Amino acid sequence: MQQQSDKMDKIVSLCKRRGFIFQSSEIYGGLASTWDYGPLGAEIKRNLKDAWWRSVVYERDDMEGLDAAILMRPETWIASGHVTSFEDTLVDCKSCKKRFKVEQITGKVCPECGGALTEARQFNLMLKTHLGAIEDETSLSYLRPETAQGIFVNFQNVVTSMRRKVPFGIAQIGKSFRNEVTTGNLTFRSREFEQMEIEFFVKPGTDEEWYEKWVSERYDWYVKLGLKKENLRKRAHDKDELAHYAKACTDIEYQFPFGWSELEGIANRTDFDLKQHSQVSGKDLAYFEEETKEKYIPYVIEPSGGVDRSILAFLTDSYKEEEVKGEKRVSLAIDKSLAPIKAAVLPLLRNRPEIVKLAKDITKDLKKEMKAMYDDTASIGRLYRRQDEVGTPYCITVDVDSLSDRKATVRDRDTMKQDRISVDKLKDYLVEKFEQ
Ligand code: ATP
Repeated sequence: MQQQSDKMDKIVSLCKRRGFIFQSSEIYGGLASTWDYGPLGAEIKRNLKDAWWRSVVYERDDMEGLDAAILMRPETWIASGHVTSFEDTLVDCKSCKKRFKVEQITGKVCPECGGALTEARQFNLMLKTHLGAIEDETSLSYLRPETAQGIFVNFQNVVTSMRRKVPFGIAQIGKSFRNEVTTGNLTFRSREFEQMEIEFFVKPGTDEEWYEKWVSERYDWYVKLGLKKENLRKRAHDKDELAHYAKACTDIEYQFPFGWSELEGIANRTDFDLKQHSQVSGKDLAYFEEETKEKYIPYVIEPSGGVDRSILAFLTDSYKEEEVKGEKRVSLAIDKSLAPIKAAVLPLLRNRPEIVKLAKDITKDLKKEMKAMYDDTASIGRLYRRQDEVGTPYCITVDVDSLSDRKATVRDRDTMKQDRISVDKLKDYLVEKFEQ
């Protein structure tokens, strides 16, 4: 257990020290459960979202992408059930004022200070705001607590504009907001976070088959991107655990240092949402199947994952400490496609202008294809360590010999094997490695 919490501390420290994740508004004391992605965090985030988009949108024939607004008409959240049921049951401690979910309390007193507790009360997790100049009930709006509803309300727009036939899906990545009460564990439970969601529309009766398919596809995606199988599991929800709209749900869980926790949920949402929106909006959202002349409201399979939780899982999973030649080596053995920096070019002698020039020219050329950087601010040993720690797959060193043989040394992060590659072939060599 101690070892596990040490690991979490190491990840938190790496994230801050190396520019992956910073506390939001840190100079003002920080804003609880809200995080900023630093220069390297921003790169990983882009890479992860790209990997997801490629796999669920570009590589499939049955998916369209969408980018809906965060702000929606408040009726949306009445129809979806969020206004009435997106709630936690909370108690407050009368003496230390801490707030807990009822599930966290085992006795009758505050678990932190032993103080008396208030009666339990319902607490809606949606963040409210007002649109326009007047702040009253009529201008009330919400920051979306899930991206899914932006997809449901656009179902017909997509069917019509893209001439889509069921079965097909709509994929979307975007910010969601929840006024979470329990916090901690870095970005795992944030108040502002990003989701990667698919609503996959199918004919009723075929839903169970599609549900099984999506559970295994989504599990395989994490494995393919490098998460260790022993740290991943599928957990089907018991009937009494299911959300009000779901017929079945399976969570893909990751073994974080703080325990097994949800990375992504795959739910069979039935026709709940489209039916609700039909009713509340008064628009008929049924689908007409040309071939059979049947009209029906499609069932929906929803794989819903978190960008932030995935990043945390990939960082934790790839963090490695080992001893190499009597020295501690920390590396991030992260999938190359996710690595924030793809290649670092390091001159062996920074006081030799010809070497520096060649190294800078190589960097400039690589930048056309990938995130590459030049660094000469320390000894070569330290430069390697810095790149290993942030998961850079390839370090390229330029030395005296490079000036005569026009070759540079490429060092592989994982094997530490070194190859001498001709400078003109370097870019193609790396591009090929990234394609493997
Ligand atoms: P939990 O039970 O952990 O609160 P949830 O079941 O409410 O999660 P969903 O509503 O199914 O989560 O949201 C889908 C995905 O969005 C989750 O699997 C998770 O990856 C992500 N997610 C949800 N809430 C948060 C949050 N507060 N911070 C970061 N990611 C979140």
